[in-house]
Amino acid sequence: MSFSLELTEEHQELRDWLHGFAQKEIRPAAAEWDEREETPWPIISEAAKVGLYGFETLATFWADETGLSLPIANEELFWGDGGIGMAIFGTTLAVAGIFSAGTPDQLAEWVPQCYGDVDEPQVAAFCSSEPEAGSDVAAMRTRAVYDEATDEWVLNGQKAWATNGGIANVHVVQAVVDPELGPRGQAAFVVPPGTPGLSAPSKIRKHGLRASHTADVFLDDVRVPGRCLLGGKEKLDERLARAREGGKSSSQAMRTFELSRPTVGSQAIGIARAAYEHALEYATQRETFGRPIIDNQGIAFTLADMRTEIDAARMLVWRAAWMGRNEIPFTAGEGSMSKLKAGRVATWTTERAIQILGGSGYTREYPVERMHRDAKIYDIFEGTEQIQQLVVARAISGRHIP
Ligand SMILES: Cc1cc2nc3c(=O)[nH]c(=O)nc-3n(C[C@H](O)[C@H](O)[C@H](O)COP(=O)(O)OP(=O)(O)OC[C@H]3O[C@@H](n4cnc5c(N)ncnc54)[C@H](O)[C@@H]3O)c2cc1C
Repeated sequence: MSFSLELTEEHQELRDWLHGFAQKEIRPAAAEWDEREETPWPIISEAAKVGLYGFETLATFWADETGLSLPIANEELFWGDGGIGMAIFGTTLAVAGIFSAGTPDQLAEWVPQCYGDVDEPQVAAFCSSEPEAGSDVAAMRTRAVYDEATDEWVLNGQKAWATNGGIANVHVVQAVVDPELGPRGQAAFVVPPGTPGLSAPSKIRKHGLRASHTADVFLDDVRVPGRCLLGGKEKLDERLARAREGGKSSSQAMRTFELSRPTVGSQAIGIARAAYEHALEYATQRETFGRPIIDNQGIAFTLADMRTEIDAARMLVWRAAWMGRNEIPFTAGEGSMSKLKAGRVATWTTERAIQILGGSGYTREYPVERMHRDAKIYDIFEGTEQIQQLVVARAISGRHIP
């Protein structure tokens, strides 16, 4: 097949559909939910009604062999608004956790419960980070101990900054099963709805993405049935035995992140593009010294750089999404590269957008200050800027850079 960067008709339809939803349902509500700092359930419901929120939709995106459906969809939603976008798409991280570790039976049982149904949509949470273990996944303390008598796993610990933590129907929790093995001694568990011992008493107040719920999750003697261990006990025992013999296997949390990094990058690009478009329009309308500010090279060149950076980041994201979907190994850390670039571009572009809007840009009368607040998280979650650099540096050097 000849090489082409042209979007297929299906991709264009998908983009236009999501753009329409973002424009009609998300944009007009963005400032309100940012101020309220609450999960926008009516918009999640609307997304479920139109078939945008649900496991069937995600399965359709995932079935696309080009890998582009997910980044296209995310870019459009987050172009609408970062906080609401995350309220709608945050569930996907938990679903990715189930996908990357679960058996087909577990997928069939838990993924639909992550989303609920049209009448009663639900959200899901992926809980890996802890107060002392964000970047340093090996420092994880949450323990899972097997109770052979009852065929249950008992979870104890504290998870930090979990998107949808406590309000989720399904929590996917990463825990240590063998402390001797570091990250290779970890496993993922589904905590079913209403399980006693799981609590998230307070929501964390944030700089941005304020329509997306974030909370610490406490696990106090949380008992889950044996079938909630993702991948099953037999596979876990085999994996642990291999790790004890010194065999190589990456941690499950890392696999989940690798899978989702290009998608997260596309969210950052959506926010960056929105800010760039606002700045471009403003620059053609705002006049100083008797001419539109875009007629100054200082402004026009900044806009040219913004557009260039956004397009470059998108290319990296699409490449990584295509590679991930087609199981082409990230030999140069391409997944991390895409997220690193997209996060930086979003933070820089939204800051420049404020600059182009001047005083107006700094006020809540215009959306670019919110976009700047929303963009910053893309340098931090799903692996900070420095952790992405570390992944790329290790991949290109073949050295275990500490
Ligand atoms: C809004 C929000 C939502 C989130 N959602 C989730 C979620 O759903 N699930 C989840 O599990 N987690 C979630 N997180 C957690 C997030 O993934 C972590 O905050 C992130 O991984 C960074 O960890 P940390 O905060 O502990 O920073 P730290 O690891 O303490 O890092 C602090 C600084 O030190 C730098 N640093 C650390 N180690 C190195 C090194 N070796 N070399 C160079 N620099 C280094 C980092 O880059 C960073 O700049 C969320 C966080 C936020 C704020």
